Amino acid sequence: MATSQGANSYRNGTQSHRTSLKPHAKSKPAQRRNSTAKDHAAVPGRVRVAVRLRPRNAEESVADADFADCVELQPELKRLKLRKNNWDADTYEFDEVLTEFASQKRVYEVVARPVVESVLDGYNGTIMAYGQTGTGKTYTLGRLGEEDNAARGIMVRAMEDILADVSMETDSVSVSYMQLYMETIQDLLDPANDNITIVEDPKTGDVSLPGASLVDIRNQQSFVELLRLGEAHRFAANTKLNTESSRSHAILMVHVRRSIKGRDAALSSENGNHQHMVKSIKPPVVRKGKLVVVDLAGSERIDKSGSEGHTLEEAKSINLSLSALGKCINALAENSAHVPFRDSKLTRLLRDSFGGTARTSLVITIGPSPRHRGETSSTIMFGQRAMKVENMVKLKEEFDYKSLSRRLDIELDKLIVEHERQQKAFEDEIERLAIEAQHRISEAERNYVDSLQKERSKYQKDYTESIKKLEEQFMMNQRKNEEPHLRSSGETPKVSAEELADLKKMLQKESNLRKAAEGEVYNLKIHVAELKKSEVLGKSEIVKLHKMLEDEERQKEKLEGEIAILQSKLLQLSLEADETRRQLDRGGFEKEMGDLNSLPAQVKHQQQASGNGEKPSIAKLFEQVGLQKILSLLEAEDADVRIHAVKVVANLAAEETNQGKIVEAGGLTSLLNLLKSSQDETIHRVAAGAIANLAMNETNQELIMAQGGISFLSMTAANAEDPQTLRMVAGAIANLCGNDKLQTKLRDEGGIKALLGMVRCRHPDVHAQVARGIANFAKCESRASTQGTKSGRSFLIEDGALPWIVQNANNEAASIRRHIELALCHLAQHEINARDMISGGALWELVRISRDCSREDIKTLAYRTLVSSPSFKAEMRRLRLNY
Ligand code: ADP
Ligand code: MG
Repeated sequence: MATSQGANSYRNGTQSHRTSLKPHAKSKPAQRRNSTAKDHAAVPGRVRVAVRLRPRNAEESVADADFADCVELQPELKRLKLRKNNWDADTYEFDEVLTEFASQKRVYEVVARPVVESVLDGYNGTIMAYGQTGTGKTYTLGRLGEEDNAARGIMVRAMEDILADVSMETDSVSVSYMQLYMETIQDLLDPANDNITIVEDPKTGDVSLPGASLVDIRNQQSFVELLRLGEAHRFAANTKLNTESSRSHAILMVHVRRSIKGRDAALSSENGNHQHMVKSIKPPVVRKGKLVVVDLAGSERIDKSGSEGHTLEEAKSINLSLSALGKCINALAENSAHVPFRDSKLTRLLRDSFGGTARTSLVITIGPSPRHRGETSSTIMFGQRAMKVENMVKLKEEFDYKSLSRRLDIELDKLIVEHERQQKAFEDEIERLAIEAQHRISEAERNYVDSLQKERSKYQKDYTESIKKLEEQFMMNQRKNEEPHLRSSGETPKVSAEELADLKKMLQKESNLRKAAEGEVYNLKIHVAELKKSEVLGKSEIVKLHKMLEDEERQKEKLEGEIAILQSKLLQLSLEADETRRQLDRGGFEKEMGDLNSLPAQVKHQQQASGNGEKPSIAKLFEQVGLQKILSLLEAEDADVRIHAVKVVANLAAEETNQGKIVEAGGLTSLLNLLKSSQDETIHRVAAGAIANLAMNETNQELIMAQGGISFLSMTAANAEDPQTLRMVAGAIANLCGNDKLQTKLRDEGGIKALLGMVRCRHPDVHAQVARGIANFAKCESRASTQGTKSGRSFLIEDGALPWIVQNANNEAASIRRHIELALCHLAQHEINARDMISGGALWELVRISRDCSREDIKTLAYRTLVSSPSFKAEMRRLRLNY
């Protein structure tokens, strides 16, 4: 078929054109925006044609019920089949095939949006609907969609897109709306204006309708209002003319004028120094896109006989524009040399839309009814031909000389105003200067007159004085002239000799006085010089003295430090001497620190000793040296000093009254630090002893734990060799074991393990402290279990203390034995420990205690514990022990 061949060739053509049609895509290439007004080459752009099928209407649904539609659409292939008869159909291809189900939105997007975007970019655009009356042209283009938003037609949607894209500050949108009927153009916005002429620019060929109203559009609402008004006028006009709207063409023109920014900057930077000049005279660029939307008259043939009540002439005229359009399109499709644009007003108006520079989109509307097959076929043929029309789309961009001249006018006015202002300021300044000069001149004149007056009076005075002098001289001369005459009488020389002698004497005296004064001055000068010299000397003396004073102070500080050390040594020595004396007094050997359990006795002893006033009391020395000083010596560089200091602190800590002060001054922290940082066994021993003493107080116990004391004590215990060190550490831990609140923490931080680890040393004193610790712990734990704050087996059993307990339950040293016996009783009070105690052999020890213990209270306790425990009772029954 010829048609399918035609469709093919169009398709080939499109392939290349589609890409070149891109300019109307939303993402525009940047370089296009930055080009200048003249350099826009035209780009080929074929007229795009979509076909839209109207659904069957009510009448057709009834009348054509038994017939199939005359067309069959294949939208995915963009094909339309027009049935010739039951077995044959012609196939046509279109740019878009829109079925009866196509939504208005989709139709807008496919048919109109690319054109609208082009217009926004500064191209001309045309959207036109062609088809038989009643197939949906007005539906497609002109529906306002007020009752149903989804029904909005192309005109409304196009304006929405335009308004969304333009800027109200720099751009403008204006609209004309008219109808063309019987070769007359009537303004639909001002119906009285019914003979609008078309004006063509002879140079560019651009057509315009200067007579048509041009209404600025600033919002969508006003535009819809305008369309409604136009529609009403169209209806009224057609009623008056006794015709139908289907016989007239409705034409909407939207002018979009946009100014392009960023251009000035780009140009001026190229021109370097003349930036300002170039900027101010460079005209801004405007892009003027024009969108023409044409709702054509019905394409059906009119009865030439004028059956609608028209004369033949009228009938011809009614049809003229449409048939001329058909002819032009035919000529363009066939590339004819002559295109008869001038034959009708419609073709003159649409000159740019077909074969011109506009981007054009045509929608042909058809109905489904087989009864109108003929009209449908001719509509399709019109569309097919239109698809062959090539346009050369071209950017409508120009320099905006008008706005440039406006701007220059404004600038000129500004300059004039500025000039006038400056002129005035200049004149004012001149006047001010003139007045000032006048002032100065009169002042100078005044001064001149004044000084002239002064000068004159001075000269007059001088003159008078000179006259007076001259007169005196004259008198004297006269007297002298009389003198020789007197001399001859012999009197005068005598007088003058006396006088002379007097004068000489006086002169002598004067000169002596002067000499004396001169001598005095000389002496004074020397004196001053000496004074100056001695002042300089004095200054350097002061500096020297300052330096000496500083040295003295330094020396004093050093000596004070040494005194403190010596005092602390003295304190220590006195303590040691005191101790030795006490030991000698008792005649026995006692350990350095005494038994921790007998500490109160020791304190008492010390108090007695200090009371008798035989030696400097600790308290006195303590006061003299100051606790802070002693504590600071714990960190002294000198190891000896450190040892002395720690001994002093330990001795002080032995006294209950001092403990609070020591802890308050940070002594506990310092002692714990010594355990951590010192390698010296003596320091370890003495520090641990001090800590053990401090650990007798409940608050201090908590402090020790809070400062990580257990880990320092454990560390010391693990590394110590000296039994006395171990005894002190064990003593300290034993004290902590007696605090109900610290049980769990103590155990978690390895306190029990550390305690048990120390029994590696065989010294009974160490064992005694370990036993005391275990007893303390067992007692607290038992209390906690009874109160329900502890559940589960004893931590002592969990940490493996039981074997050592059992092994030492009958230790010959009473200090060990007593503690362990008590510990066993406490453990036995809780049924949960019974199994371990039985299997570990503790039952035997308990039985022994209940029978042989020399301390009646412990014996009774053991007995009661045994008989109240079901597990122990059962085991004893098993062992046939009678209870
Ligand atoms: P034309 O302007 O081509 O003479 P109209 O737009 O006035 O045709 O449409 C004729 C009738 O068909 C109207 O009642 C219209 O609502 C209806 N119509 C047209 N196209 C469609 C469509 N796609 N879907 C539903 N109804 C339509
Ligand atoms: Mg219509």
